[in-house]
Amino acid sequence: MPTVSEVPERLLLGSGPSPVPERILKALSHPTVGHLDPAFGEIQDDVAAMLRATMKTDNKVTFPLSATGSGGMQAMVDTLVAPGDRVVVGVHGAFGGRMADALGRAGADVVKVEQEWGRAIETERLVDAVADPATRALFVVHGETSTGVAQPLDGLAEAIHARDGLFLVDCVTSLAGHALALDEAGVDAAFSGTQKCINVPPGLAPFTVGDRGLERLQRRSWYFDLQAMVDYWFADGPRAYHHTAPINMIYALHEGLRIVQEEGLEARWARHARAHEALRSAFGVLGFERLAPDGEQLSSLLAVRVPDGLDEAPVRGALLKEDGIEVSGGLGPLAGAAWRIGVMGEGARPEPQERLVRATARRTGGDEAAAVRALEEGWA
Ligand SMILES: *Cc1c(COP(=O)(O)O)cnc(C)c1O
Repeated sequence: MPTVSEVPERLLLGSGPSPVPERILKALSHPTVGHLDPAFGEIQDDVAAMLRATMKTDNKVTFPLSATGSGGMQAMVDTLVAPGDRVVVGVHGAFGGRMADALGRAGADVVKVEQEWGRAIETERLVDAVADPATRALFVVHGETSTGVAQPLDGLAEAIHARDGLFLVDCVTSLAGHALALDEAGVDAAFSGTQKCINVPPGLAPFTVGDRGLERLQRRSWYFDLQAMVDYWFADGPRAYHHTAPINMIYALHEGLRIVQEEGLEARWARHARAHEALRSAFGVLGFERLAPDGEQLSSLLAVRVPDGLDEAPVRGALLKEDGIEVSGGLGPLAGAAWRIGVMGEGARPEPQERLVRATARRTGGDEAAAVRALEEGWA
């Protein structure tokens, strides 16, 4: 029987998980303590404070849910939306579609505002859709990982707040990799994940909710009972047990957030934007054109069209098995037609990008030297 030590090392440049640095692996393997140990409580307080800084919010209720990013989405549905609520959902890729599905299963009256994959949704169309006074919430995906498009948030909070509704956002792939200030954007609640731009393994969903959302808190879900989590994370007295916190994952997130703070959030956003453009021009040389038009791109994910006539799956297979590099294929209508390349945290650096560019050039017969030159110029 193989052991995990036989699992090969990979350079993770797909849609997530992203490369996990040694510092974070080390934090993950620190000896476990109890979830009610006061020493662990200090780590929790730090994590909450660093998450607020990273999300640019003052919301007290800002903490990692014990679930992956999709669990963050489920928690948002179960705690902030009531059956029958009219909820407008922007769908410009796979992740908006998943939210519409989750809301529908929870009995919400889902109104989709759809857009072709590869473009942002026009603000006016979202604003028009929330004009119905029965609207209780507006949900958008800030960073669509299926298309590499960033959805502008400007003007949306005002529109939904005029209906006394909640502005809800998925920032799984954008958090710490693309400019985002939740309070400034008027966001009432948002969820993220650890395995994209924070470079922590998958397993936690950073989550934040402000007063407007807390006033409407639903307690239908036993596991995602936000009040119970507030009583554990933010108790004035002793922390109350609800479920055992994933101690070591929270250690890892603590270290991941420290790394974000050391670099500085704005500097990190700028590095991701630069890494994205450098990789984009290198892949342009190899005949892979970016899907997102200028100005709509998500820094942390480069989605490119596969050149005509290239059978992409065997190339990705060889990159993984022979070169040890993971990139992701297209989802839904883009299956077989696009690659999704992560530009996330430690993946958004010249060295890993050069490895990918060289390997791709060799496996597709592209001009390796010219592609590497374009990458270097992008970083210069
Ligand atoms: C990855 C991702 C998710 C889902 O997160 P999981 O950790 O896979 O559950 C949700 N939304 C977006 C935009 C994502 O990129």
